Amino acid sequence: MARFPLAPGSTIGVLGGGQLGRMLALAAARLGFDVAILTPEVQSCAVRVAARAIIANYDDPVALESLARAADVVTFEFENVPAVVVEQLTAFGAQVAPGARALAVAQDRVDEKTFLNGCGAPTVDFQAVDSVADILAGLDRLGAPALLKTRREGYDGRGQTWVESHADAAAAYERIGVVPAILEARAAFRRELSVIAARGRDGEVVAYPPGENHHENGVLRRTRAPAQVTAALLAQIETIAARILTSLDYVGVMGVELFELEDGRLLVNEFAPRVHNTGHWTLDGCEVDQFEQHIRAIAGWPLGPTTPLAFVEMENLLGPEAHDWLALAGEAEARVWLYGKGDARPGRKMGHVNRLRPLKG
Ligand code: AMP
Repeated sequence: MARFPLAPGSTIGVLGGGQLGRMLALAAARLGFDVAILTPEVQSCAVRVAARAIIANYDDPVALESLARAADVVTFEFENVPAVVVEQLTAFGAQVAPGARALAVAQDRVDEKTFLNGCGAPTVDFQAVDSVADILAGLDRLGAPALLKTRREGYDGRGQTWVESHADAAAAYERIGVVPAILEARAAFRRELSVIAARGRDGEVVAYPPGENHHENGVLRRTRAPAQVTAALLAQIETIAARILTSLDYVGVMGVELFELEDGRLLVNEFAPRVHNTGHWTLDGCEVDQFEQHIRAIAGWPLGPTTPLAFVEMENLLGPEAHDWLALAGEAEARVWLYGKGDARPGRKMGHVNRLRPLKG
């Protein structure tokens, strides 16, 4: 059994081989840890910066056993880790952080919203959907248009469609594949904000200043942080983040997406039980970035300061935009992060750039 705090030289296991795994591995290496990545992808961008790789499917019991043996703590870089995988890792003696509960809640939009409202983190009104009749009943209660999302496995705007009217209900259900779903009331938001927060093994919670997010075609385009918020709004955001992390007995970094409504109210859209794209600005904008913070939390180290050092505009480099690396590297105020992915398919997250401006005194 691992003893916390983990000493340098310990091994951190990561499920998933994408850019979040890569940046976790870089942060872990800086603190003296080795990283073992489990991923089914042979060409994984995280594996190329890790001490060890296990190339296998996530549900391969032999691979899970060898990861559990190699790692003093296991974490993940995506939230759709099947519950059975965490059970097996635990059965093989691994410590998994964040835990099974956070994963289970985050994987199902109905469970997630039910949990959030229960812990004092308000969301839009919603209706669980298993039939066209449920959509019609939901429209009666929530009004139209309303947003129909698959309960599970939607991301970057996939698996969701607007239901414009009662007449559109059956077609909308077809559009998302006639699967268990949720119908959400439309949030009339002024801004989309997010907060990256962390909870340590001792229960301490810290939060970074919130960021303001802009999406294009359902994908994050840019985050500006720290966002301009009143002291009252900031306090509300920090309270919501602390309620979520504490209620889940969470260990690690979490991204919480928020809507600031036209009428000033704040609603939680969803949370991701992992490091988050809207927290990439912390890599160059904060004393301790979200990746190091996550490693500190799961290793049982003290959490680091979340103090901002600069205003950052983080812009994702999607597909061929990453080909501009040379020009970006020549911008004095830009910090370029490239994920080492080969194929710059349109829309693929290839890297990001953080453009820094001094904080006014
Ligand atoms: P999600 O997959 O839940 O993160 O949703 C993707 C994006 O769709 C969000 O960032 C919002 O821009 C928009 N969105 C999600 N839910 C709602 C809602 N209930 N009302 C209005 N817009 C929404």
